[in-house]
Amino acid sequence: MRYDAVIVGAGFAGIHMLHRLAATGLSVRLIEAGSDVGGVWYWNRYPGARCDVESIDYQFYFSDEILAEWRWPERYSEGPVIQRYLSFVTDRLGLRDMISFGTRIETADYDERSHQWRLATDRGDSIETRHLILATGPLTVSLKPEFPGMADYKGRILHTAHWPREPIDFAGRNVAVIGTGSSGIQAAPVIARQAKSLTVFQRTPAYSMPVANRPLSDAEIADARAKTEEYRALRFASPGGLRGMGNPKKLADDSPAEREKQFADRWTMGGFAFLMSYADIMINAEANEQAASFVHGKIREKVKDPATAEKLIPGSYPLGTKRPCLDTGYYEMFNEPHVSLVDARDAPIERFDANGIVAGGKSHVFDDIVLATGFDAMTGAIMKIAITGRNGEKLGDHWADGPRSYLGIAVSGFPNLFILDGPGSPSIIVNAPAMIETQGDWLAQCIQDMEANGIAAIEADRGAEDEWTAHVHEVANYTLYPRADSWAMGANIPGKPRGFMMYLGGLTAYRDKCREVAETGYSGFALTRAQAPAEA
Ligand code: FAD
Ligand code: NAP
Repeated sequence: MRYDAVIVGAGFAGIHMLHRLAATGLSVRLIEAGSDVGGVWYWNRYPGARCDVESIDYQFYFSDEILAEWRWPERYSEGPVIQRYLSFVTDRLGLRDMISFGTRIETADYDERSHQWRLATDRGDSIETRHLILATGPLTVSLKPEFPGMADYKGRILHTAHWPREPIDFAGRNVAVIGTGSSGIQAAPVIARQAKSLTVFQRTPAYSMPVANRPLSDAEIADARAKTEEYRALRFASPGGLRGMGNPKKLADDSPAEREKQFADRWTMGGFAFLMSYADIMINAEANEQAASFVHGKIREKVKDPATAEKLIPGSYPLGTKRPCLDTGYYEMFNEPHVSLVDARDAPIERFDANGIVAGGKSHVFDDIVLATGFDAMTGAIMKIAITGRNGEKLGDHWADGPRSYLGIAVSGFPNLFILDGPGSPSIIVNAPAMIETQGDWLAQCIQDMEANGIAAIEADRGAEDEWTAHVHEVANYTLYPRADSWAMGANIPGKPRGFMMYLGGLTAYRDKCREVAETGYSGFALTRAQAPAEA
């Protein structure tokens, strides 16, 4: 099989890219390991899975028709609704026939003479393509800790990122949830409503804010549709890829009473509005501490047992430097008599046994254990593919000290390999669909320009890659983000190189940089012309 372009992954990034490239008339194939589109929303079917970005923002803006035809039921959408949305988009744009489902790309080798990538799949197919586009997702490869004795456990073990398709009933069961990141904090209150008992194993307490979800009225939907142009412009003009919400003031601009009111108002608004109470929360330790202290107060207010409240209060890292969570009734859940918290710092998980978990010398009996233990983020899915570039260089070697790229899109030594929503880009530190449209539009134009100008290969210069990678780290080091042992730093995976993996300069600055590169004839890239065919 031979195509002009192969895209790997049918999440937001892959679907958008497929639409853009199909429109150019190139032959394109999308390869997806799952049996349907959706990406994270296909795989993460755990109870309570819900978007943390408002539905009006977390959608594509490239098609007025789709914006007019799809109606979001709630302010923050449930995972299955987003999966259905992507399925709707795929069919509406006539893309489904261009997708091979249930197929995993395992290897990719570049042939410098023909400027072709040769791909092998887990079904034994071999595919040739000029352009290889990895839309494999920043949160794809799950982290499943290997606790001693796991194989002896007789109950069910579930992972939030690989939730079974059939409904899971927790009624009458004693359930454990390990992990208190976004997945665990969303799943636990829903499981608690069904289960006989729920025990949450927390190693590091999270900062969580109320999501304040509610149905969207017809009037709100009509208003959003009427403002499509305005919203489209706003999301691309904002650092976070959102319609707004940021307070341009710094903490020092307000009096203590004004700060308290600002925090309280934003807490009530719900969602990430609280994190944007002041413009300097992520760069000024004092502003951060004041916002954090407000959240600590809220946890003490919500959780009746003071000892449990103290255990739930985070303190070892600044607010927001581990991706904050949004919840519906998480802290309140601990007031229920059948819900308990095990602080895995005081009572570390030692092992599993046939009946459950032994932690801090105490045995806990469970029917089900839910792992909400996260992902090998940003690089995990890319590194699962054995990628060999020019001169036989392995991507794994090139990235041995951490991911390096130009614009987060291209890698030196790996011509015509493009990465979407990956390390070195703003990725999911901003609203993902806005970032994904930015990169996909840029890449579609780049490939069209190559076609129009007889360019067979495009490759990032080593110097441009060095400069961009240093810039990504420099911007991160200006902020408080590197102070947390987060997945974004690679800190949750033993042996993974440490360094903040996303570009924190904001979507607007990123868009400007990408535009400048294209307008200057793809500066920072080496372009190789196609050989003229030999004359007969
Ligand atoms: P994905 O959606 O991850 O899609 C990648 C696809 O590639 C997957 O379907 C995978 O099966 C496929 N794939 C990978 N490797 C291969 C291979 N070798 N061969 C074949 N197929 C392969 N972001 C936000 O901005 N706001 C949110 O509220 C938000 N909520 C989230 C909730 C959850 C539970 C998770 C896990 C993530 C969330 N994110 C959120 C981040 C999310 O990653 C992005 O929003 C976005 O969905 C990423 O889209 P994507 O297309 O880049 O990747
Ligand atoms: P996560 O944030 O990495 O959280 C994993 C949790 O598991 C942490 O509490 C971690 O503790 C714990 N853990 C891991 N290994 C452990 C072990 N061996 N023993 C005990 N505890 C262990 O993963 P996640 O919750 O799946 O979320 C990952 C990202 O996905 C989020 O940050 C977000 O970007 C995205 N997401 C978004 C949404 C949403 O927006 N709606 C929902 C879900 C996920 P430590 O902190 O101590 O390591």
